Amino acid sequence: MTQSLNARTSELDRAHVFHSWSAQAALKPLVIAGGLGCRVWDHDGRHYLDFSSQLVNVNIGHQHPAVVQAITEQAALLTTIAPSTANLARGEAAKRITDRAPAGFNKVFFTNGGADANENAMRMARLHTGRDKVLSLYKSYHGNTGAAVVATGDWRRIPNEYARGHVHFFGPFLYRSEFWATSEAEECARALHHLERVIQGEGVASVAAILLESIPGTAGIMMPPAGYLPGVRALCDKYGIVLILDEVMCGFGRTGNWFAFQAYDVVPDLITFAKGVNSGYVPTGGVVISDAIAADFDETVFPGGLTYSGHPLAMASIVGALDAMEAEGIVENAARIGRDVLEPGLKALQAKHSIIGDVRGVGVFWAVELVTDLDTREPVSAAVMARVKAELLGRGLLPFLMENRIHVVPPCVVTDDEVAEALAIYDEVLSLDLLS
Ligand code: PLP
Repeated sequence: MTQSLNARTSELDRAHVFHSWSAQAALKPLVIAGGLGCRVWDHDGRHYLDFSSQLVNVNIGHQHPAVVQAITEQAALLTTIAPSTANLARGEAAKRITDRAPAGFNKVFFTNGGADANENAMRMARLHTGRDKVLSLYKSYHGNTGAAVVATGDWRRIPNEYARGHVHFFGPFLYRSEFWATSEAEECARALHHLERVIQGEGVASVAAILLESIPGTAGIMMPPAGYLPGVRALCDKYGIVLILDEVMCGFGRTGNWFAFQAYDVVPDLITFAKGVNSGYVPTGGVVISDAIAADFDETVFPGGLTYSGHPLAMASIVGALDAMEAEGIVENAARIGRDVLEPGLKALQAKHSIIGDVRGVGVFWAVELVTDLDTREPVSAAVMARVKAELLGRGLLPFLMENRIHVVPPCVVTDDEVAEALAIYDEVLSLDLLS
């Protein structure tokens, strides 16, 4: 009997593929063969509703025809060219990105993904200020390269701490406040006070940059109180610090805006992006650079570069993706779905299921926190989350789970019907006796 393609895929994977962030022996990765829109499937035709957007990057959905066509056309024309050349697709991609950024951002440095975008933004901030230290949140993820993984706050930093000059602090998050706060206003004021004290403690003349996800994503989609980002901006201005906002996960439509920070009264000095800019159809990312920082490198050499910076296939996919998102109102769809469908739907689940401690988010960027007790807010165990994952997958929903949370993060193209289908599956699984 011939082996099924699912079995062949698993066999090759287990024999030869070394996976990220995992002990390898017990892994059994899900086989995925194809996808379209918000659905993916294996070789046997088993379908899943993708409410993960993979790693929260497939904002435009799987196999969007305009993006596939843009890549195909570019592949027929020129598949690769050195970054030192001028290339039309690269210029068009950069223009589409700067057109969506605030006034005063006119240059883009392209990278291979999000980590190296942060890596280069930190380098620019250090060169701009002549200072060394970078402050970032304990509850953050900024990527898996030298400085980016040390800027990261979560457990992934600990075995990788080889870069120097990184200092961490706590951000505002009222549901699990580090500041004994009882209101958003109090949480915001105390978090800003804490940050200012950290800056002073580190030496005001030694801090080059504050690096923040506009909305911390992997760490829990923790919505900043309205005054927090403007307060951080004010501290940066007071002490001459560069503000880098990491929009790798929250940017390009996910929150119902082109950039997540646009919902807050703040303009950073550097913006990093990746994922949603082209939905990951070809690996890419970059730094959007404010004019003041870009000007530093008018006469002085920028000491950084990558063979694939501005790769033509990635650039064509950015042009295809951003044009389609604009033409089809995909960012507006994310905003509407969040406001009118996901928020009420998830809040209704919270009212029904006492295992849900908190629901928060915006657009197609939501976290559902599972707890053993609504008062103590004790997170459910890893075993409970493993069961939740298996039950969701068993019902055909591909979830994004982190610690004790379900991140509800479908593509920005998700329809009302697909959300209704997912909510019914979450409801069914949360109705199980998960805590016994
Ligand atoms: N920054 C944020 C906020 C992210 O969520 C991620 C990836 O999840 C990264 C940076 C790193 O991006 P990449 O994996 O493309 O290097």
